[in-house]
Amino acid sequence: MTNFLDLDSDGLAAFFAGLGEKPFRARQVSRWVHQRLVDDIGAMSDLAKALRDRLPALATIRGPQVVSDTAAADGTRKWLLDVGAGNAVEAVYIPEDDRGTLCVSSQAGCALDCAFCSTGKQGFNRNLTTAEIVGQLWHANRALLAGGVTASWVEQGRAPITNVVMMGMGEPLANFDNVVTALKVFLDDNAYGLSRRRVTLSTSGLVPALDRLRDACPVALAVSLHAPNDALRDRLVPINRKYPLAELLAACNRYLERAPRDFVTFEYVMLDGVNDQHAHARELAVLLRDVPCKLNLIPFNPFPGTEFAVSPRPRIVAFQKALLDAGYVTTIRKTRGDDIDAACGQLAGRIRDRTKRRAIRLHSVPTASQ
Ligand code: SAH
Ligand code: SF4
Repeated sequence: MTNFLDLDSDGLAAFFAGLGEKPFRARQVSRWVHQRLVDDIGAMSDLAKALRDRLPALATIRGPQVVSDTAAADGTRKWLLDVGAGNAVEAVYIPEDDRGTLCVSSQAGCALDCAFCSTGKQGFNRNLTTAEIVGQLWHANRALLAGGVTASWVEQGRAPITNVVMMGMGEPLANFDNVVTALKVFLDDNAYGLSRRRVTLSTSGLVPALDRLRDACPVALAVSLHAPNDALRDRLVPINRKYPLAELLAACNRYLERAPRDFVTFEYVMLDGVNDQHAHARELAVLLRDVPCKLNLIPFNPFPGTEFAVSPRPRIVAFQKALLDAGYVTTIRKTRGDDIDAACGQLAGRIRDRTKRRAIRLHSVPTASQ
């Protein structure tokens, strides 16, 4: 049984070609699924009756199972979505005056184990399928419309979600094929029709996959930097031991040759006494000299059991000022939805069935001394 949420335009075209149907059927079905957001093939009233009768035995539109749906005081909304075997992932809606952003998960858990990340601490279970990734956007649009969301663009007939950030649970580039297929659905004019600037992928820095993304589907890029030198980044973002800063920054410049924006956004989590000193800001300013970029400082969001604390506000502002003075556009991310644990790095979902040890070995790398 094919789930239509699993297929991009090429996949749908191949599916209908296999049935001996014309290619325009694929575009028709895509619009029913992703624009009119139906979950019932019987509702596709402009499909020939014979095809409509035949399809339900071959295909379905199966969205995510919602375990919980929580709204925060600031309008942020978080869905916990079942992915089987007792595991669940989270998708977060962040409303703003001029846009509706959905933060999408790509894996159940994460194997990369960054020191300050709640998802990483949960361990890794598995990659999400394309349907599970696309299903987050499909479901969010449906749920928001059903709830009577108000926004000027919705009144004009556009979908509630205008921007997608792959910044939920998991490392998107570690689930490359399914993520790229999902990105293609997000961009497809017969599906969600988002421009490449409105879709951002955040990565901790898997260099070979970054090069592949540049060729397969370049969208706006955010890179989780978090440290101005290899010694500190090795500790905070362990994948740095495999792909150190010089390689990562070179890959960022290669990416920019194809990117929809002419800068990379570097994310930098502010950890009290760890990476937030004036000397770190100065080192960062020198490090990033040759990469067209913007910086986004993220106040650390705590979670139970963490060894870190958020930098005091004055230090974050001073850090920002040092970077602004050095000529970098630097913003401080506003924390949204923290009262429902929906803020960056707080997404824990529910990972019961871990395969972390095996996954970590997969990524383990020789250190300089070996
Ligand atoms: N795996 C990808 C995308 C998911 S994390 C990545 O690491 O980029 C999205 C962002 O939240 C990353 O920049 C990540 O470093 C940051 N983050 C993780 N834990 C955090 C926390 N506890 N507080 C604030 N930001 C956090
Ligand atoms: Fe994984 Fe990103 Fe969390 Fe690191 S910050 S553990 S890469 S989800």
